[in-house]
Amino acid sequence: MIPPLDLAPEIDEIKFEIEKEIYRVLKEARFINGPEVRDFERQVASYLGVKHAIGVNSGTDALVISLRALGIGPGDEVITTPFSFFASAESVSVLGAEVVFADVDEKTFNIDPAKVEARITPRTKAIIPVHLYGRPANMGQILEIAQKHKLAVLEDCAQSFGATYQAQCAGCTCEAATREKAAGLKTGALGDMGAFSFFPSKNLGAFGDGGLITTNSDSLAAIARKLHVHGAEKKYYNQLIGYNSRLDTIQAAVLNVKLPHVDRWNNGRRTAAQLYDMMLKQEGLSPERLVLPEIVPGHVFHQYTVRLQKNSARITRDELVARLKVLGVNCMVYYPVPLHQLPVYSGQYPSMPVSEQFASEVFSLPLWPLMTMNTQEQVVAALKKALLG
Ligand SMILES: *Cc1c(COP(=O)(O)O)cnc(C)c1O
Repeated sequence: MIPPLDLAPEIDEIKFEIEKEIYRVLKEARFINGPEVRDFERQVASYLGVKHAIGVNSGTDALVISLRALGIGPGDEVITTPFSFFASAESVSVLGAEVVFADVDEKTFNIDPAKVEARITPRTKAIIPVHLYGRPANMGQILEIAQKHKLAVLEDCAQSFGATYQAQCAGCTCEAATREKAAGLKTGALGDMGAFSFFPSKNLGAFGDGGLITTNSDSLAAIARKLHVHGAEKKYYNQLIGYNSRLDTIQAAVLNVKLPHVDRWNNGRRTAAQLYDMMLKQEGLSPERLVLPEIVPGHVFHQYTVRLQKNSARITRDELVARLKVLGVNCMVYYPVPLHQLPVYSGQYPSMPVSEQFASEVFSLPLWPLMTMNTQEQVVAALKKALLG
């Protein structure tokens, strides 16, 4: 069976270094706030081009703590995409603020700036764009809208570690000055704050849970840093109701070893995406039956997600995914239910037609940095068989 993701080859490349670093942490026995955590925060801040990076316990905590630092709470509205992992919205709801959904753009899978602007009310405080599947959202226009309406921008970078913003990447029609300022910046360095996840399957993954908050603001960094350790700058002199949300020393040690390899691994993902693109077109599976993701600069392909063209296919997406499994290819569906239709929010939101359509059409092909061409050929052969009989 070909899995959706195989982490073994990349771990194998660095296993001796990892063993050495983990053993060092064991010997030091500084499992909480060891020196590896500060080392990682420094290195990752420099890699991402941000002034501050704060390690936390998960991507979800990074979102929640960032929203708290931005002052979001009951009575506030936060606009985000309905086509994402639940945490993008959950982080808003858990703080007692109201999630407002703006539907996604047809081409990019990311939140549509025009629809964001249409949802702004006097209670709107922030926008959470998600760089879904590793493709940067249309940050140029989102930043312009935020500036115009005095809103904060929190980037959900859980799927976009290492991705770079390029105007053409997002199909951006923002003003030249905005484009110039943002061009070439990494995701997480564009908005007021960024939230990253080191869940093992993400582009930079730990060996367990982990997350990161980024910002260029000294004041936001100071609040977030306080909040992540029980609201205390000085231990036992708590000033805020905070969280116990630290990045473990062992995870920081693992991430320190992995960080220097992440660009190469992201390039491996891009190369695999390019190969899929070529093979699927060559086999005549696209554009007739499958809509393929655009390969744009800066995209780091956390997922290679295609859409089944329902009109031309005689089977549903779920039938196709089941058929592929029988043929030995395990494809995941991100996401089968758009957030506004989840049981927890049921009946609270109007229809989001693009997200609803995508939720019934998308599936992600197996993809990982060191995937072999032979494995990709097997995936394409199975797809051909499943689709064309
Ligand atoms: C994975 C993910 C998160 C949550 O990260 P955790 O580390 O699992 O808490 C948030 N948003 C998106 C888009 C994600 O993919």
